Amino acid sequence: MSYDQIEVPEDGEKITFDEETGELSVPDNPIIPIIHGDGIGTDVGPAAQKVLDAAAEATGRSVSWMRVYAGASARDKYDENLPVDTVSAIRDHRVAIKGPLTTPVGAGFRSLNVALRKKLDLYANVRPTYHLDGVPSPVKNPSAMDMVTFRENTEDVYAGIEWEAGTDDVQKVKEFVEEEMGYDDVIHDGPVGIGIKPITEFGTKRLVREAIEYALENDRDSVTLVHKGNIMKFTEGAFRDWGYELAAEEFGDVTITEDELWEEYDGEKPEDKVVVKDRIADNMLQQLLTRTADYDVIATMNLNGDYMSDAAGAQIGGLGIAPGANFGEGLCLAEPVHGSAPKYAGQDKVNPTAMILSGRLMFEYMGWKDAGKLIRDAVEKTISEGDVTYDLHRQIEGGTKLATSEYADKVVENIHELA
Ligand code: NAP
Repeated sequence: MSYDQIEVPEDGEKITFDEETGELSVPDNPIIPIIHGDGIGTDVGPAAQKVLDAAAEATGRSVSWMRVYAGASARDKYDENLPVDTVSAIRDHRVAIKGPLTTPVGAGFRSLNVALRKKLDLYANVRPTYHLDGVPSPVKNPSAMDMVTFRENTEDVYAGIEWEAGTDDVQKVKEFVEEEMGYDDVIHDGPVGIGIKPITEFGTKRLVREAIEYALENDRDSVTLVHKGNIMKFTEGAFRDWGYELAAEEFGDVTITEDELWEEYDGEKPEDKVVVKDRIADNMLQQLLTRTADYDVIATMNLNGDYMSDAAGAQIGGLGIAPGANFGEGLCLAEPVHGSAPKYAGQDKVNPTAMILSGRLMFEYMGWKDAGKLIRDAVEKTISEGDVTYDLHRQIEGGTKLATSEYADKVVENIHELA
């Protein structure tokens, strides 16, 4: 495979995907595309690469990194935000990792993150939230949090169907809504921006299917559908209904509803069943704090998922810690939850743990569970010994404040010690 804009490493082999069996085939020396990203991406990208290399080598493998570009680095090199070669390289190599990309608010280009997820049809954004020993937290019992959020990644108000105030297009949509659809006393007079919130049965069911399969494979107790269906009945309410429908249709013998749990099992969950329940989003945000341990796997739409996983991330130490990955059909693009934090860019200051643990998720998807465990253990050892970056240092007594690169070196040292 050759690309106009990308250098393909000479050593290393491609990861392949068999569409018939759904199996990924991963060599011991895969080529993995990496986008360092904007802002602090230039700090956390190389730091994570170093740690991932160490974990791969300690488990008898190696990674041939293929630098690909998006955002500021792509504008510098090719004068475009998201080169077509970047998207093709990720699609061709199946598994990739990226740092954060800046999105201007209001005017300017649309989110490159959203564009990548849409172009590659990465429909599930998976964000595990678990507590690492030694990480300071604003809540009393952070270890109660062990949750994985499945956030639908292609629909909802993120679909990008919106019209700017003052344009002919928005006027047309307004007239259609008022005159054809009869909502003539809802939109206030004067300038208005209008957006559309599509939620499909297809998008909902493939996301909820992933969440239930994950719960079954990983011995999780429950899957919670999070929605605001009391208000948005035909979008978020439909998500809830289609979610339950999918559970009954495809997993009827291994799932039960909360009502069935109480009516048939007196609240004692049978070991071989996953409970499928639902919560309204605003209630869910307070339940995350007050009844943390009751939640296991979450399936929700794009916007709810974004808010919820940031809030959950804060409970286990903040954005510097929170990893994520986007999944499609035989595709994985790992990325931290945090953004490009431009005020810290290039200062060798921020916490690379979120990007490192996103790499762990990517390795696990590749079947490298031993390397993934080594990464988690080494990160936990580093933090427990008080070797931390500024964000955690300001919340603990004592400890050593390290730069991004020094922290990554410590994690590498601990990988060597634990291997
Ligand atoms: P942000 O970049 O996530 O930063 C918000 C705050 O979170 C930072 O000021 C810092 O808090 C903390 N933080 C984030 N990453 C950290 C790290 N690695 N280590 C330690 N602390 C960290 O959010 P934002 O300022 O709202 O967004 C900036 C840009 O990023 C925007 O253009 C946005 O669109 C983009 N963004 C991109 C992605 C993505 O690429 N997937 C995701 C979210 C946002 P303190 O200052 O309190 O220490």
